[in-house]
Formats: sequence, C-alpha cells, structure tokens
Amino acid sequence: MNYIVFDLEFNMFFKFKEGDLANPELKNEIIQIGAVKLNEELETISNFDLIIKPVIYRRMNPYVKRKTNINTSRVAQGTPFVKAIESFHSWVGDDSVLCSWGLDDILALRDNCLFFGFDALSFDKFINIQQLYMKFGNLSKQPSLESAVEVLEIEVSTPFHDALSDAFYTVDIFRKVYDFSSDAIMNWEKAQKENEIKIEALKQLIDKAAIRCPQCDRIIQKNGEFTKTKKYFAFGFCTECNIQIRHISRITQKSGEYSIVSNNAIYVTSKVSE
Ligand SMILES: [Zn+2]
Repeated sequence: MNYIVFDLEFNMFFKFKEGDLANPELKNEIIQIGAVKLNEELETISNFDLIIKPVIYRRMNPYVKRKTNINTSRVAQGTPFVKAIESFHSWVGDDSVLCSWGLDDILALRDNCLFFGFDALSFDKFINIQQLYMKFGNLSKQPSLESAVEVLEIEVSTPFHDALSDAFYTVDIFRKVYDFSSDAIMNWEKAQKENEIKIEALKQLIDKAAIRCPQCDRIIQKNGEFTKTKKYFAFGFCTECNIQIRHISRITQKSGEYSIVSNNAIYVTSKVSE
C-alpha cells in the first residue's frame, strides 16, 4: 500500500466583463496537480506534477494568478484534464491511500472527475492530514498549511501555493504527525455521499424556516423570498415594531453534522420613511 499525498491549484470564476457567468456545474477548475507517492515507511517513491489546461475558466482569475504565480499562457499550454487524470490514475495505482491537507482538494478532485466524466479514480481510502495535525496539536480551528509548517519548524525552501511544493510540505507534516493507525484512513466517498443526502434533505426544509422579528420575537409573514444554493433569504415586516426584517437560513456543518442555522436581522433600507 502506498500513500499519495496530493495538492491542487484551481482557477475559478472572475467577472472580467459584463455578462461573464460562472458555471454552476464546476466552481473550481483544476489547473495543477502536484503529488508525492510514499511507501508504507513513508519514504518517497516518486513525484507527479502537471499543469492542466482549463476549458471553463481559461483566463486566470487575478487573485489566483497572484497567489499561484500561474498565468493564462502557462495553463493554455497545459495538459487537458482527462489526459492528466488518466496519467495521474495510473501513477496512483490500485492499492493507494489518497492524502491531502483538508477536504477542499479531494472535493475538487472528485468534482472535476465527475464534470469531465472520468470515473476510474477511487476515493474510498483517504487521509485528511490537516485533521491528523489538528488532533496532534489539539487544535479546534482549521490551521493553514503555512502555519503548520511554521509550528512544526519545517524548513521553507520553495514558495507555497505551488501544488508540488505544497504536497512536499504536506508530506513533511504527515511524517511528523502520522501514527500509522488505520483509524486515520476514512472512506471519503461513502461519507461524502451521506453528506450529500443530508444536504439535499435540508435543502427541502430550508425555506420552511419561520421568520421572526428579532425585537419582539413574533413570527411574521414573509413578503419576499429567494434561495441561493445552500442559502435561503426571506423578508418581512413587523407591524408591531414597525421594522423591516431580513431572514437568512443557511446549511452549515460543524464537526461533520449538518444543520440549518437561521438569522433574523433588522433590515435597514436607504429609503427614509415619511
Ligand atoms: Zn416586532
């Protein structure tokens, strides 16, 4: 069994001009895969590093460009995703555990695979190295990769936000915090599917939330509402307090448990009442 410690960089929507729209089917498009293969003793076997040519967000988001130092002409010469993921998949091999810092990268990896119709990669064995580090340091807030590198006094030799360089730092952290217990390996695909079912169920309920006046706590009538992916907005007017109320409900997650959290606030409009 090998460990595949990987890191991704992705490009995302940026409104360069009026009429530019994000693709709701793919929010984070992978532009770089960096990975290190380790054996059971956590010794390095080989590396993987590819720049990927985006097809949805072809022009680099200026923020991402600044952070990663990857520009539009560089990604334009990259490998198409399906070709890249095919070679990544064969490099990963059959008996491997995918490992990454946090959950963003594995989620984006699966989203991109689904979007581009590649279903051969398995997400059944996964280690969240950020979570191992949090247990190790008894932390409750998710730390950045940079902060973990600093705390563990890992030598910084290459810039952050390059996928392969970040994968190297994640390997350094992994070697310091991993106790080789099999508990660390989770079936991410199964957990994620269960989460998606829970989120769908909560989405059916989110617009049923009552809207209350934050001042007098009365339930008031909704006079406007709209839903935005995992958020629900409603408006109302408390005739008792003579105030406009804005209600927001959102699906949130706390240590793996999903729930709807609602907030009612006094809504101040720029219109001055007569
Ligand atoms: Zn009221």
